[in-house]
Amino acid sequence: MTMQILSATQTLSTIDGMRDACAEARRAFGARCRLGLVPTMGALHEGHLSLIRAAKRECDVVAVSIFVNPTQFAPGEDFERYPRPFEQDSALLDAEEVDLVFAPSAEEMYPHGVPQAFVDVPEIGGRLDGQFRPGHFRAVATVVAKLFHIVGPDLAFFGQKDAAQVAVLRAMVRELNFPLQLRVCPTVRESDGLALSSRNRYLTTEQRADALVLWRSLNAARILADAKTADAGTLRQAMLRVLQSSPNVRVEYADIVHPNTLLPLDHIREGALVAVAAHVGTTRLIDNILLPPSIVGRER
Ligand code: AMP
Repeated sequence: MTMQILSATQTLSTIDGMRDACAEARRAFGARCRLGLVPTMGALHEGHLSLIRAAKRECDVVAVSIFVNPTQFAPGEDFERYPRPFEQDSALLDAEEVDLVFAPSAEEMYPHGVPQAFVDVPEIGGRLDGQFRPGHFRAVATVVAKLFHIVGPDLAFFGQKDAAQVAVLRAMVRELNFPLQLRVCPTVRESDGLALSSRNRYLTTEQRADALVLWRSLNAARILADAKTADAGTLRQAMLRVLQSSPNVRVEYADIVHPNTLLPLDHIREGALVAVAAHVGTTRLIDNILLPPSIVGRER
């Protein structure tokens, strides 16, 4: 829980400024200060706010970064059109009483234009979304490592919505001994099940309706698992049938994998990750569920 030692939200755009502000906040709270970081690309919605609220519950000081990281977008992806409603985001962060906002420019983060060093999680980073977005997770791991070095958080908050990102960052933190803990928060959804995403604002009304097949496909898998179907192939086929019921949806993958290794599972077991990615029009959407221990792994 945050105390009002830090009175208003402070926004920093330089690395040195952010480092100083973090150090000052830590000094204000003393040696036991818990600093939480919520990395985002802005265009904030309730999903982001749920991470911020989780951080506020556990930390003395909460920092949010807003950075649309150019290196994690491939040519032809949506970097240029990615929404950047900075004023609106700032108002939301003020209202949430976030202590520190780090919003650097691309030049501040990459003064040489392109990164001169990378953090790579080569195996896990090449699976699931990594198969279809080569280099994406290397760019994500690199920018998150930079943010961790700049902010020095004790806790960092991410959404289960980006399940492959979570697996990559867990491996990075473990393998490179980052002195912090990751917290993974549940996916926030619209009342009809659509996972909140900054990219949902690209969808037309018709595409918004089509996009619901992602959630329906995950439910088809969940229902089978609940009825004790353990064969991953059967679940996949059921998902694909749902996804293919909409002609405007182009499936990229529908997979059942281990949540940490992202390797495909033949048989469903505790904590299996059921994940889907599809294009609805020109918008790429992802979603997933974790099959809870209460559903899988029971006597059949
Ligand atoms: P982004 O701004 O899309 O990079 O997302 C920033 C963080 O918010 C990531 O850790 C995402 O996983 C998380 N996030 C995005 N959408 C949701 C959601 N619907 N529910 C919970 N967390 C989310």
